[in-house]
Amino acid sequence: FYYLVFSSAMIITFVYYIQHRESLRRQRLEEANERLTRSEEALHLLNSELEARVEARTRDLAAKNAELERAWEAAKQADVIKSQFLASMSHELRTPLNAILNFTEFVAMGMMGNVNERQKDALDKSLDSGRHLLALINDVLDITKIESGMLRLFVETAVDLSDVLETTQTTAQTLLKGKEVEFHSSIDTPIPIITADKRRIKQVLLNLISNACKFTEEGEISLRVHNEGDSLLVTVSDTGPGIKSEDFGRIFEPFQQTETGIQHTGGTGLGLAISKRLVEAHDGELWVESEVGRGSTFYFRIPHRPESLKQTLMAVER
Ligand code: ADP
Repeated sequence: FYYLVFSSAMIITFVYYIQHRESLRRQRLEEANERLTRSEEALHLLNSELEARVEARTRDLAAKNAELERAWEAAKQADVIKSQFLASMSHELRTPLNAILNFTEFVAMGMMGNVNERQKDALDKSLDSGRHLLALINDVLDITKIESGMLRLFVETAVDLSDVLETTQTTAQTLLKGKEVEFHSSIDTPIPIITADKRRIKQVLLNLISNACKFTEEGEISLRVHNEGDSLLVTVSDTGPGIKSEDFGRIFEPFQQTETGIQHTGGTGLGLAISKRLVEAHDGELWVESEVGRGSTFYFRIPHRPESLKQTLMAVER
């Protein structure tokens, strides 16, 4: 009997113990579940807050973007208006200036009656200044047209550069008169017949040569024209003051001059900017290599038959 009672008591205690442990475990589980539900809710809240914030930010950004786009459009419009204004102003200035130059030249030549030496000297100085002003106006007109995409090239398919190269050499010799600078040239013959705007290629050549002559006080200047496969490579080297490497990019931007450029009055800082863009319009490239104190070499390479000019020609034919 005792044994039975003891065994029953043991079994009851064991069952009670198990039940107690089970209820404790359930309680803990419930608590953990509750905690989990609470953190889930908090997470949910955080998520929706974040979503709201992202939405607000996106709206903000979209509004700012639209504002920027409007400002960009306005700036572009202002730029076009500026270019149109400059182009028409330059054009309007050129006409009377040409008349002034022509009449001054007639008077200086004695076509309107005799002029004495002093008067001729004064008239020649007026002519020089007038021509300089005309060159400036032409440069401004060119860069304005280029920057506003209004530049039209006069493309020919059978351009012979011989006379242009001859003019360039004569100009160099004239500009170097009175200076201790020798001029050399080395030109491959025959010069290939190319597709180009001849007047614009001449403009680039004259710009490079006149810069070399302007900045070089002693030593030599050389012009080289070489055929490189289906491209033409033109090189103008001088023994002038040279250009710092950090200025290599800047000098091709409009109105940018180095200290040397500023010291030589009469420049505008437009020549190289125009030349680079003209060469690029011929699918070519223009670049400089230079060392301060040793001189500069300007190169430009243009293909004999530029692809984009072919398209221009086709558009004109159509
Ligand atoms: P400009 O000659 O009217 O000043 P360019 O655009 O032709 O304008 O040249 C820009 C600048 O580049 C010049 O002012 C000068 O500082 C520099 N430069 C151009 N060519 C030479 C050169 N051959 N030697 C030294 N500096 C040069």
